[in-house]
Amino acid sequence: MQKQEESAHGFQPRFQHFATQAIHVGHEPEQWNSCAVVPLISMSTTFKQGSPGQQSGFQYSRSGNPTRNCLEKAVAALDGAKYSLAFASGLAAAMTITQLLKAGDEIICMDDVYGGMNRYLRNVAVKFGLKVSFVDCTKPKLLEAAITPKTKLVWIETPTNPNLKITDIEACAHIAHKHGDIILVVDNTFMSAYFQRPLALGADICMCSATKYMNGHSDVVMGLVSVNSEDLHDRLRFLQNTLGAVPSPMDCYLCNRGLKTLQLRMEKHFKTGMAVARFLEANPVVEKVIYPGLPSHPQYELAKRQCTGCPGMITFYIKGTLQHAKTFFKNLKLFALAESLGGYESLVELPAIMTHASVPKSDRENLGITDTLIRLSVGLEDEKDLLDDLDQALKAAHA
Ligand SMILES: *Cc1c(COP(=O)(O)O)cnc(C)c1O
Repeated sequence: MQKQEESAHGFQPRFQHFATQAIHVGHEPEQWNSCAVVPLISMSTTFKQGSPGQQSGFQYSRSGNPTRNCLEKAVAALDGAKYSLAFASGLAAAMTITQLLKAGDEIICMDDVYGGMNRYLRNVAVKFGLKVSFVDCTKPKLLEAAITPKTKLVWIETPTNPNLKITDIEACAHIAHKHGDIILVVDNTFMSAYFQRPLALGADICMCSATKYMNGHSDVVMGLVSVNSEDLHDRLRFLQNTLGAVPSPMDCYLCNRGLKTLQLRMEKHFKTGMAVARFLEANPVVEKVIYPGLPSHPQYELAKRQCTGCPGMITFYIKGTLQHAKTFFKNLKLFALAESLGGYESLVELPAIMTHASVPKSDRENLGITDTLIRLSVGLEDEKDLLDDLDQALKAAHA
């Protein structure tokens, strides 16, 4: 210590206690009760203990973090749940949920599921001895027929991506629970907590990619899981800490901030989404529009029974070929050609080549994911500007 404070090379002596002060002054762990109105971003990885084992409620940031706690509490309330847990991504949440099972157990997964989930189950989960079958759960009879004594988990996504097929959550819950201790998971990414509460409809686990609507600003990758059962919560909390796929405090802060405007954003996505869907349905170069808010949607009645509204996700088939779709993309000025969805900015994509490229071609064809199927994520821009943009790009595609 003394040595460092000495002068070197003929310069003045170093200031005393410099490093110690930098590390300790203003850092007293006991002081954090400022009554700040906005949640703090607690970057600390560790928390001071009064005596060995005597904790303040936190110990190590993977097991629990004040900023993450704030977010998890808010999400639990919005999902109408007792508990919520945050993960580093939607897929990290999915991976953690499947770790509730053991080798030999079987998963039934919705056939038209998120491409990354399909890839995870087919390429990774099976290597650990989980058996996976893909079933069209929009037909509850098919789900029931697929259940075996080894089925331990049913994974549905409603609406699906990109076909926006709606699954009857209540009917699936009834079937899953009739056959013993099968866990029903609903991927609620598209609807968000604002338009759909799977737990109230009988699901055991509500998960979502918060990367999409829940955060809503395309600047955080995160997954959220909500449950009511204390047993499931305890097991998932153990896995969250044990597998360690947790989000950073900064991301938790940002996602929590995104939640404050979830209602405002979803209402606007719904309003503009309806306008865009109606516009497309009336457009002569559009073959078909899929939007659960339109009476033309095959499950319109179910959507109205199960959801409080619809997000800005619209799927449509453009008339013609891949070349027409490409010309359409090229001419769009406001809709950016990009994967992902649910942000404030409008996006467009071609699932067959982009988000769903990892789905085997024969499955894609069965699901109708062709080269002319286009997916829109309608953002929060002015409605008329978006309609004008779509109009001119569709005209250009068929000029
Ligand atoms: C994006 C997405 C996921 C995966 O979430 P990540 O945060 O990207 O890991 C899962 N399900 C659906 C429906 C999604 O759109």
